[in-house]
Amino acid sequence: MIINIPTPADYYTSGKELLNFAWDTTAKLLVEFDQAGFYGFDEAEISDPYWAAAKRTLTTALTIVQQAVELIIKGRIVEISPYILISDPPSQWPSPYKEGGIDFEAFRTVDAQDLIRVHDTFAQAPFGTHFVQKFHSLRRVRNVVMHSAGKNVSVQVAEVIDNALYMHKSLFPEESWFQVRREFLRRDPGSHLGSGEYATNTTCWEAEIVVRLLEPSQVTAYLGIDKKQRKYLCPACLDDANTDAEHFERKLAVLAPKAPGSTNLYCPVCNHTHTVVREDCAEVNCEGNVISGDNRCLTCSSWQ
Ligand SMILES: [Zn+2]
Ligand SMILES: [Zn+2]
Repeated sequence: MIINIPTPADYYTSGKELLNFAWDTTAKLLVEFDQAGFYGFDEAEISDPYWAAAKRTLTTALTIVQQAVELIIKGRIVEISPYILISDPPSQWPSPYKEGGIDFEAFRTVDAQDLIRVHDTFAQAPFGTHFVQKFHSLRRVRNVVMHSAGKNVSVQVAEVIDNALYMHKSLFPEESWFQVRREFLRRDPGSHLGSGEYATNTTCWEAEIVVRLLEPSQVTAYLGIDKKQRKYLCPACLDDANTDAEHFERKLAVLAPKAPGSTNLYCPVCNHTHTVVREDCAEVNCEGNVISGDNRCLTCSSWQ
């Protein structure tokens, strides 16, 4: 008998935790850099030395994205059967006569390089070609980092962000990464010291930087919004954000569909479409005409 058989959820949870770990370290660098101007630095001048100093963090983050993906693929395999994860031949299995059964952990499981093959052999549908290419190129980077101690690897911050978002979207197409990220921030150790109250502020800030950093096609694929479309405040995020110390003006929500009379506003952080009213804002200096259900202008945030 085998005991402690892992469930798909065990792997998905651990995989997402690693993804969040990689994201957290990378996003902190981006958020810090985003404040360069505020602290009186010339962004163009400090960009090269800043990102050169971040090299080790970025390569490590990318290898952690890869580990996260491996765990999630294991979860996909366990959906089919946990037993096909066992890679040893029967002659090398632990004795089946041990009292209390054999812990699943006592078995050697399939190597990372074979995960896709095992999945694609037994699954109803194989992984897509692009996903497999990205998976293998991440593995190559990881191997170089491990073998050359990362001396010859140069990873751009956009590459880490792109890989994390691509992998999350491919493996959990129904989810929005930023919604997941906000939940992680709400449960962060720092939330016991009050940082959880800023989960929406931080998530929206990160999302805003990511929209600036990535190409329009990537923004559409990962956030479900058009980079070039006019953005509005999300009524739910505006409500949820902590505005004690700062004015909340992170605009990420878009009208869906993009049309003059559209009353649906999609927010990638909520991963939800909110109903809005199309009326001109009462503020003279504001040209906004998208108003929340509780009468707030979603362009300038003033109450109507
Ligand atoms: Zn929102
Ligand atoms: Zn307004």
